[in-house]
Amino acid sequence: MRERKIENILLIILLILGIPVFLAVAIYVSAFQISSFQLDLTILGEQEVTVEYGDHYADAGAEAYFSGTYLLKNGKEVSVNTLSNVDESKPGTYHIRYDASFLIWSACGERIVHIVDTQKPEITLRSDPDQITLPGEPYAEEGFTARDNFDGDITDRVIRTQVGSVVIYWVSDSSGNTAEVTREIIYHDPLPPELVLLGESSVTITEGDAYQDPGVVATDNCDGDISGRVVVTGTVDTNAAGTYTIQYYVEDSYGNCASAVRTVTVNAKPQASVGSSVQQTVVPDGKVIYLTFDDGPGPYTDQLLDVLAQYDVKATFFVVDSGYSDAMQRIVREGHSIGIHSTTHEYKSIYSSEDAFFEDLEQMQSIIQNTTGVTTYLMRFPGGSSNTVSSFNPGVMTRLTAEVEARGYRYFDWNVSSGDAGETTSTDRVFENVVNGVGKRNVSIVLQHDIKSYSVAAVEKIIQWGLDNGYSFLPLDMTSPTAHHGVNN
Ligand SMILES: [Zn+2]
Repeated sequence: MRERKIENILLIILLILGIPVFLAVAIYVSAFQISSFQLDLTILGEQEVTVEYGDHYADAGAEAYFSGTYLLKNGKEVSVNTLSNVDESKPGTYHIRYDASFLIWSACGERIVHIVDTQKPEITLRSDPDQITLPGEPYAEEGFTARDNFDGDITDRVIRTQVGSVVIYWVSDSSGNTAEVTREIIYHDPLPPELVLLGESSVTITEGDAYQDPGVVATDNCDGDISGRVVVTGTVDTNAAGTYTIQYYVEDSYGNCASAVRTVTVNAKPQASVGSSVQQTVVPDGKVIYLTFDDGPGPYTDQLLDVLAQYDVKATFFVVDSGYSDAMQRIVREGHSIGIHSTTHEYKSIYSSEDAFFEDLEQMQSIIQNTTGVTTYLMRFPGGSSNTVSSFNPGVMTRLTAEVEARGYRYFDWNVSSGDAGETTSTDRVFENVVNGVGKRNVSIVLQHDIKSYSVAAVEKIIQWGLDNGYSFLPLDMTSPTAHHGVNN
């Protein structure tokens, strides 16, 4: 019985001691074994996120729940602390840390955020519509800009290289994104070549003369001398009177062209046919003296030519077949005019008929041509057109003056006589006669004979007087005044 008592006491003691232990064990078992408690943290969305620079990053956050196996089976939400160093304004790698704690439980997580710039910079080329790059010339940059979404204006970082006719622009942004654009240089030559006629743009020749075109010179700002590319069209028929044009055309390598035209007038050879037109008279300006010398050349003609050369005065010689062919050549060579006077100067024969007259005239024309190479249609009737020595053949001068013009000749008389044909043999008198006559008019055609020494001797004084008094000396040509006397037979 006693033993039982002790057992009971021990049981009571055990019970008293055991209750808190039991409770502790029960609590322990229920919290960690039967219904184990935990704190869970879940990162919402991806663990590692890449965001393009410029886009907004919105963090999806994280959530945490405290829960147990039997108790708080559905969990209790626990607030999450977020610690982020994400800077959207700067590319880089950032971390977001999430923390949660409840009583003695805690949980954490981390998300990695990459802010990246993968966008290329942009290069913009400017082009100037007025810019012209001449072939062979360096290219003048028209301008460009480079912009980057992160770096902003990076024009100064552009690297520019030219390869042939291509300009390459290259740039890199601070993230290593590169951009490249190219520009094809447009070479353009807006300038036409220059075509320059050699010789006159208007040429007049006489039927039967040879015509040799002097050509042109063509130069181009890019191609240089392109005379060899000139296309010449048009021909001159030197055997048919008319007006011909010769066209020159040239094109440079860029299609610019230039053209020029030369006019070649082939004048009809004065024909022995009725109706040839007489050339219009062109009255010279100012006070003019035409010195004319008949019946030479002769022994004093060289002396006369010396004086004329000394004063650079040009005169006119109406020549006969005197045999002084050297002097005749010199007349032409030194720029004087040469005209036909007569082969024989025999009034009786030359005025005996029109045929006889023209036979004599044409013979002298041939002598002049053979001696000097000049075919002259300037002429003076022996005795002048007003002569009456021909009156043995009534009306012959009336017929001849018409016929010579019809055949294309231009005949000249004179309006100042020196008197050297009989009136005087005095040089002073010749001078006075000429000066008196010249002084009365603006245009004088002076008659002298270069076969008379005393007359030739007056020429220097006449020239000096003329120059001192404002006259100019001219040679006769096919348009000069004729000083016709009027026909008396
Ligand atoms: Zn004469």
